[in-house]
Amino acid sequence: MIIIMERNATLENVQAVTNLLESHGFKVLVHTGEIYTVINALGDKTTLSANRIEALDGVKQIKFIREPFRLASRDRQSEDTVIEFENGVKIGGANRPVFMVGPCSVEDYDGLLQVAKAAKELGCQFLRGGAFKPRTSPYDFDGLGEVALKYLADAKKETGLLVVTELMDSSDLDMVCEYADIIQIGARNMQNFKLLKAVGKCSKPVILKRGAASTIKEFLLAAEHIMYNGNEKVILCERGLKSFDNSYTRNLLDISAIPVIKKYSHLPIIVDPSHGTGQRYLIEPMAKAGLVAGADGVMVEVHHNPACALSDGKQSLSIEQFKQVFAKLNRLIDTLHLENTVSEFCE
Ligand code: PEP
Ligand code: MN
Repeated sequence: MIIIMERNATLENVQAVTNLLESHGFKVLVHTGEIYTVINALGDKTTLSANRIEALDGVKQIKFIREPFRLASRDRQSEDTVIEFENGVKIGGANRPVFMVGPCSVEDYDGLLQVAKAAKELGCQFLRGGAFKPRTSPYDFDGLGEVALKYLADAKKETGLLVVTELMDSSDLDMVCEYADIIQIGARNMQNFKLLKAVGKCSKPVILKRGAASTIKEFLLAAEHIMYNGNEKVILCERGLKSFDNSYTRNLLDISAIPVIKKYSHLPIIVDPSHGTGQRYLIEPMAKAGLVAGADGVMVEVHHNPACALSDGKQSLSIEQFKQVFAKLNRLIDTLHLENTVSEFCE
């Protein structure tokens, strides 16, 4: 790390920083410039928190050479992480992008099964559906709980699709693990550190959705919490950010986050154009954009009757609409696979 001292920092200030660093095993090199003194510290950053250095008089700025997300970073692992499921489905690396499809909330078994059967027939791999729903208003439908988990498990039995569902409370972890193949941590809980710790201690893959006001660094550090607690099977999901302009879209889908994350992390990342835009008609173009940007999968809300959906109907496709969109996305994927090379300057 590099510590830049204030222009009026005294020799004592520099010495105090040097002493602290050396007492934690760092090799220290001091460069005294005409205006600023810069301290170059080589050593294990985990032995000393940046806050301790920042708190010393005369310290202007600390710069880190390594990314703060150690386990999730490309520096640690240059190959893409590939997550494999019991039926051989794989997410990440050079594998074909996967599809996670289903209603926002699981409402009834019949509707769920209609979506699941259509998704399976098309060649999708995952059935998504919320049993525990985070809702902005306490008056809105917040999910059927374990009943919904049972419906998802029954639909899995019927179709063979793997199940993705959200966990909101760590006290439900064992129950959700019983039914789910992937545990979803929603955008609102991206920085619920106790929840991240809890899923970090279990063995199921986790989809971590990006918080609506989170930087890429915060997103990757949230993934780091899960990995640090023992679970390295993390799939990131870009689902849009709050922006100043919500007149036409619910969120601003950050497509550039996909190649940025691919550059700095080995973890797979999928795109969610339903929550990313809030608009049915934007699902197709934004799913395409996500795939072109390198997404390892697409999560789409599909409902058997979107007009009557209890949540997120406006951003859900009907089964018929999804069939059409899916066909187009697959044609795009076929083309992309022919061009799956990385330019040298991207390395
Ligand atoms: C969802 O996937 O239904 C959901 C609530 O997503 P997000 O956490 O991205 O809002
Ligand atoms: Mn939803």
